[in-house]
Amino acid sequence: MAKIFCIANQKGGVGKTTTTVNLAAGLAKVGQRVLMVDLDPQGNATMGSGIDKRKLELSVYDVLLESASVREARVQSAKLKDADCSYDILAANRELAGAEVEMVSLERREKRLKTALAEVDADYDFVLIDCPPSLSMLTLNGLCCAHGVIVPMQCEYFALEGLADLVNTIKQVHANLNRELKIIGLLRVMFDPRITLQQQVSHELEARYQSKGQLFATVIPRNVRLAEAPSYGVPGVVFDPASKGAQAFVAFAKEMVERVETL
Ligand code: ATP
Ligand code: MG
Repeated sequence: MAKIFCIANQKGGVGKTTTTVNLAAGLAKVGQRVLMVDLDPQGNATMGSGIDKRKLELSVYDVLLESASVREARVQSAKLKDADCSYDILAANRELAGAEVEMVSLERREKRLKTALAEVDADYDFVLIDCPPSLSMLTLNGLCCAHGVIVPMQCEYFALEGLADLVNTIKQVHANLNRELKIIGLLRVMFDPRITLQQQVSHELEARYQSKGQLFATVIPRNVRLAEAPSYGVPGVVFDPASKGAQAFVAFAKEMVERVETL
């Protein structure tokens, strides 16, 4: 049975997509079968996995509107295959922004992705869902089918403030729509140990969340190779496997594999 995780944080540009594609590649590298779902109309995770969002025949949009199944809509990237880091992709592009509006009048609209993913449950060990920077109907669809949420965050002053909104949403979804949902962990990303404030916020996170088991031990450093990789249409793990950023994501993938055994 596949374990399904949302990578979510309603703050923009905190590293959700970078986390999703590199965790997907890292998990594939350590032998896991992975489906990555792009739930963001920006299509960054799609492009960052080597799929041209302008040339999609079918996408997650068709799946949400039930005009295609996941089996029909999923694609593979040749670049990932060449690098031996293959994962399947349920891609997205701007069309997905329309789904939000089109789904308003539909029944059980927040459970559409959950229903669709049931069909491929046996095909994967992990399903990773890259959420948009909002707490929208799209994010809600992700939260409704997930076993847990991975929250990438930068160790900055406002990071903890935004976290409260996300925690509240997750609590509400847990109470009303998905009893399985929980925060699997906060992931410190773009970390620069030379910045004192980042050290302080990191310690604060340890004090608050480590004992609850809600803070990942792996820390993702700020690393330019991770930022360069998307322009080549591959995750950093594939682009420069020796880089500090890539190695951190492979370590994170291993931590996730251990973690799911305890869920
Ligand atoms: P959005 O909210 O728009 O979807 P996001 O949360 O998905 O954004 P990303 O797109 O992953 O964030 O990252 C934002 C920017 O930071 C990108 O340019 C990305 O390449 C860069 N970035 C992410 N993680 C790192 C890192 N560890 N080191 C250096 N640059 C990074
Ligand atoms: Mg993103």
